[in-house]
Amino acid sequence: MSPADLSQPTGQGDAAASAWLLRVRGLRKSFGSNRVLESVDLTVGRGRVLALIGPSGSGKTTILRCLNGLELSDGGTIEVAAAVSGDRAGAVTATGRGTASPATVTIDFAAKTTPKQLAGLRDRSAMVFQHYNLFPHKTVLQNVIEGPVVVQRRPIAEVTTEALALLDRVGLTDKQGSYPFELSGGQQQRVGIVRALALRPQLLLFDEPTSALDPELVGDVLRLIKELADEGWSMVIVTHELEFAREVAHEIAFVDGGTIVERGDPKQLLRNPKQERTRQFLHRLL
Ligand code: ADP
Repeated sequence: MSPADLSQPTGQGDAAASAWLLRVRGLRKSFGSNRVLESVDLTVGRGRVLALIGPSGSGKTTILRCLNGLELSDGGTIEVAAAVSGDRAGAVTATGRGTASPATVTIDFAAKTTPKQLAGLRDRSAMVFQHYNLFPHKTVLQNVIEGPVVVQRRPIAEVTTEALALLDRVGLTDKQGSYPFELSGGQQQRVGIVRALALRPQLLLFDEPTSALDPELVGDVLRLIKELADEGWSMVIVTHELEFAREVAHEIAFVDGGTIVERGDPKQLLRNPKQERTRQFLHRLL
């Protein structure tokens, strides 16, 4: 199997599969008295890319963290559709983890959430962080295999083979034994992306993946994300790179004050937003 095959979701043809992969309704989150998410509704179709843009502090990162179960939401629902035969989560279960076809995850945060539900949610997506968040005391290869082996309990030999193929794909084979501090920011972020892919998630979440990089290193990382989008990965990307969002996303959502003010076709939203708040935000940037 080629590295491209390894990282490519293949389960898009199942007629029984729902068109949406992720559906979020009325998501709310406060930190103490600070109400950060007012009520967030969003939907991501299978194989689709949603870009979240908006001012700093508007709640974009919190949305991603809630989607990934890194933060517990105070209210609202998150649903992740069942994996269809052949897609990444299905491939994982075929190796012995869980059932043959993981069911739809539905969490209603108004009710009491169970650890099992949260584990189910965490299992469906993988996050790529702004500051890479690699384990500093582990090598590149150890960083990549940690989650699949320790959390997903997959066989180390199989995971290692897959990790090496993914590292090869992003040109980092010769860095497999290096530590994060020995790598450039761009290389660390490519490891961050490989680490996410190695989890075989249904959904990739990117939190400003290039904003910590030196300008000359941004292009490589954006190209890799674009390649993954072209291969049909489902993604939510928080980004300040509007040009990139226009190129890669199927839909852009403008977030302000903890809610989605406007969403739509990238070209239309960037060129001719409907809401004044969106217009003002874009005006400041462009
Ligand atoms: P954005 O990604 O749009 O810049 P964030 O989601 O990071 O926005 O932050 C939104 C708000 O939530 C900010 O006011 C931030 O200070 C607050 N916030 C985020 N995470 C925490 C946390 N763990 N504890 C307390 N406040 C937080």
